[in-house]
Amino acid sequence: MTSATNPSLEDIITGAIPGMPKVVVHNQVLAYEVGDDYAQAWYDAEKGLLDPFVLIIEGSLGNERINGDGHWTGFAYDKTTKQPITVNEWIDRLSPQASAVVAIGTCATYGGIPAMKNNPTGAMGVRDYLGWGWKSKAGIPIVNIPGCPAQPDNMTEMLMHLVFALAGMAPVPELDEAGRPTSLFGRTAHESCNRAAFYEQGNFATEYGSDHRCLVKLGCKGPVVKCNVPLRGWQSGVGGCPNVGGICMACTMPGFPDKYMPFMDEDPNAKLSSNLAKFSYGPILRWGRGQSIKRKFDKEPDWRHNRPELTTGYAKRW
Ligand code: SF4
Ligand code: SF4
Repeated sequence: MTSATNPSLEDIITGAIPGMPKVVVHNQVLAYEVGDDYAQAWYDAEKGLLDPFVLIIEGSLGNERINGDGHWTGFAYDKTTKQPITVNEWIDRLSPQASAVVAIGTCATYGGIPAMKNNPTGAMGVRDYLGWGWKSKAGIPIVNIPGCPAQPDNMTEMLMHLVFALAGMAPVPELDEAGRPTSLFGRTAHESCNRAAFYEQGNFATEYGSDHRCLVKLGCKGPVVKCNVPLRGWQSGVGGCPNVGGICMACTMPGFPDKYMPFMDEDPNAKLSSNLAKFSYGPILRWGRGQSIKRKFDKEPDWRHNRPELTTGYAKRW
């Protein structure tokens, strides 16, 4: 999130965005306070001393019902028992009072890599824990901002939007069935990728490198992945995944990673459609467009010349 620019975290914290209510960020990576001083905000929120607040969760939640003698996670400690407070318990304590709960990253949204098959913790996302129908006291469902990691501006933009929504200055973000904001995740990576025309023309890269053609034969999962990174870039419009030569491995998806593995193999469904493009209409489209460019569009109109007559078609009217 520290690499976000639209808006930047500093814009949010310093109030550089016109009309935006004041925001105080409590994040252990950025905070000046350490230890108990840092945890105080959490205890204050629990007592109702911080209101309103937005609870943001990163990382998957272990199933603490199967934690044996220990804990899968822990943050701060219970003043009475002196035992660590698990993240699950913090969610139990704070979610009833939060104006909104946001899950950031694919681990917090859907479980992600820690929730892969054969994992020992029974890891899950925040909606799996609180329930997919859960709503905050302000009536807002859990907002999922997936991605592994989440795209920087997707985080800050959506958090800014939520603050404006909670202040009654913007509509509540529309979410899809997977809890993702449709403004960010309404399109597939493929629908946003600058290589999609190569796919349409049946023109595919055969090895990694500087080849600028579509990567589907190398394992790109973009056609079945909701993500705006190919369109938005990674930071300030620069970088990304399939748009800059790395296959999309579906890191924003609830089915990630198991349902998309092995990553470097061609997706069976994409194989059918890409072979159709490759062996039927693709080459015809490519040839036809190439011919049009060569014969027509790569040439200037013939009235652009330095001869002593005007041939643009201009007719004098008076
Ligand atoms: S590289 Fe991937 S996302 Fe881009 S056009 Fe090809 S299949 Fe689609
Ligand atoms: S394009 Fe694919 S791999 Fe890249 S961030 Fe989006 S979902 Fe993840």
